[in-house]
Amino acid sequence: MSKPVAAAAVRGSHDIYGRAEKHLQEALEQHGPDQEIGFPETAFYLPMANALLGAEVKTLADAQEIMDYTKDLLHEEPSDELWLPYLPSTLDSGIATLLAEEVDKALCYLEGSEPLEGWHGFISDTILRTLGIQLVDGRMPGFAAVVGAAPDVDTAVQVVRELQKRNILVFLIGNVDGITARDQLLEGGVLNDAIIADPKQGWDIYVVPVGPDTESIIYVLNWAIRGALTFGGHKAGEWRECLDYTRAHIFAFGLGLGEIDDLKFASGAGAIEMGFPVIADTPIPEIRPSGVCTYEELVHELDHDQIVPRCIDVRGVKVTVTDIDVPVPVAAAFEGEVIRRDDMQVELGGRHAKAFEYVAMRDMDEVEDGKIMVTGPDLDTFEQGSAHDFGIFLEVAGRKMQEDFEPIFERRVHEYINYAHGVFHMGQRDLAWLRVSKEAYEAGWRLEHYGNVLYAQFKNEFGAIADKVQITVTTDPDLIAEILPRAREAYHARDMRIAGMRDEDVDTFYSCTLCQSYAPNHVCIVSPERLGLCGAYSWLDCKAAYEISPTGPNQPVEKGECIDPVMGQWKNVNEFTYQYSNRSIEKVNLYSVMVNPMTSCGCFECIMAVIPEANGFMIVNREYSGMTPCGMPFSTLAGSVGGGHQTPGFLGVGRRYVLSRKFIYGDGGLPRMIWMPKELKDDLGDELRERCKEEGVPDLYDQIATEEDAEDSATLLEYLTSVGHPALTMDPLF
Ligand code: SF4
Ligand code: ZN
Repeated sequence: MSKPVAAAAVRGSHDIYGRAEKHLQEALEQHGPDQEIGFPETAFYLPMANALLGAEVKTLADAQEIMDYTKDLLHEEPSDELWLPYLPSTLDSGIATLLAEEVDKALCYLEGSEPLEGWHGFISDTILRTLGIQLVDGRMPGFAAVVGAAPDVDTAVQVVRELQKRNILVFLIGNVDGITARDQLLEGGVLNDAIIADPKQGWDIYVVPVGPDTESIIYVLNWAIRGALTFGGHKAGEWRECLDYTRAHIFAFGLGLGEIDDLKFASGAGAIEMGFPVIADTPIPEIRPSGVCTYEELVHELDHDQIVPRCIDVRGVKVTVTDIDVPVPVAAAFEGEVIRRDDMQVELGGRHAKAFEYVAMRDMDEVEDGKIMVTGPDLDTFEQGSAHDFGIFLEVAGRKMQEDFEPIFERRVHEYINYAHGVFHMGQRDLAWLRVSKEAYEAGWRLEHYGNVLYAQFKNEFGAIADKVQITVTTDPDLIAEILPRAREAYHARDMRIAGMRDEDVDTFYSCTLCQSYAPNHVCIVSPERLGLCGAYSWLDCKAAYEISPTGPNQPVEKGECIDPVMGQWKNVNEFTYQYSNRSIEKVNLYSVMVNPMTSCGCFECIMAVIPEANGFMIVNREYSGMTPCGMPFSTLAGSVGGGHQTPGFLGVGRRYVLSRKFIYGDGGLPRMIWMPKELKDDLGDELRERCKEEGVPDLYDQIATEEDAEDSATLLEYLTSVGHPALTMDPLF
């Protein structure tokens, strides 16, 4: 360990400790020790203190305890005479820095000075859960905390584009002499005014401006440490397990641009403690592998062309870059891009024209692999700003291809097209809406490139099934008039097939253990009538995924002997779950919240909770941040449900499970549904009304309360009584 690094980290920790302590004393004087503090929308108090120390900081007095503990971690600067290894003091300084930064930022929230306009600030639990799936399925291989600013705008743009291309999530933190990377990226066109106005939009393009000072790095680190609590199933205070978890499961690194001052060194030491190496573009002393660490922890790379590959090497981030011969970069990081009217060259479909995509299975001899046919006028014949009819028709043949895979392939069209930088796609089937930006158009984007991107992505991801793929891209009205009715017929037939599928009709369910990389004991069992709790995997998706990669996370589970058809329990499902949950779960009821429910990982779309006094269940979706009748907002509920445990009375579910005929069938089914946020109710809308009719309770839709009717259980009970909700007269749940 280099002495200058150790000395800088020690100085930095003293500095932030001193400032945070002063900040705290001022707050104590003004508000007194009982004043509550905390961050918005988290169940983990001050998450770093919670994870590492088990502390539940709720008041200024609690914060004082954290600061007292922090003080004990501070060291003296290594002196010339002292001949000891510097590592422990440096690492203590790192942890002390994180704890002090966290208290300081919580105080900023108390006084309302954060989040600053144009910066994201604290990252909520909800965002962690929403990203959960992208983290585990590889769409997002890692995070970069960019601290400081590049020497100039072009370099900032170049570095961040290199990260985006690899789908690495970029956090922007701190400044160098008042210059921030955020402002550089705004000037360079990577960020726009809309993102500055609402920094949450940064998640869509994988670039999030977090805060303009170094201390803001705590927002990223106390977000990362929650992964250990949320997905890893570790308990607050298990500091060693939590740090091991971030080291093993979260592929993050710090990228220091510009001068590294004392506080940056100290914060970097904290990041290193979590297993995140730091790479700088200035000649700082390096820390190389030793007995303590398995990879370099502090590295410099002065060449900006090399810095991103270097980061990836050092942290061992697994990235797959798709090299496709089109004039714009293609990567998942561009998926969330929105193209505004002013930036648009041309529009396809949408409100002013027709557009569709349609995937059809064909016999082997009907398809010529790699053939891309473009018919109709190309983009360069269209007037700027105009809208046109458009169609994409994919014909797929393969020995393992099945008709059931058509919709799964078709759904990917949306994602794949959006990967192209400057090319936008929304909707699906015959409701598609596409835009091409002026930038992409000027770079040379034309109709054939839709075909190139789709062909490459399908072969890449579904090569084992799609032996042959041929693609027609058309703006020709005659051809569109010919294909569109056929496509619509196929859409309808498919809907009927899936809607008609019952759990009883199949011998085999599928497992999903994708989330085990985060929640090691979690197993989803996915049946035709119960989709995965993340909402992203249906039975057909799992079936296709299994065919595509037979040793992957989706395995067939032959149901075997039925132990209880009402609760949804099967002998083989139990055995499978036992084996794959590391022998922690012995019995699972697919259709029950109350008895042996399925485990929950952390990325559930919704949580159900029993309301004993009302003899029914409420459900809350993760987008809803208000209070619920069970006395907890989503974030608090989620804190007690996740981690791969069974928690009777609570259950993580996918949104659309509510519409299933097997929805909590074992607990009495849909008539038990007593409360849900209005947004969810509206979204389920007519389909939910239909289901209520089918269940023989046609008035139920209107009897289900929302936050407009009740936010606590007493008011809820009054409301349910006044509307005569059926749950009140059902068999008691307990
Ligand atoms: Fe995770 Fe279950 Fe979704 Fe699979 S189905 S990704 S295990 S939540
Ligand atoms: Zn999950």
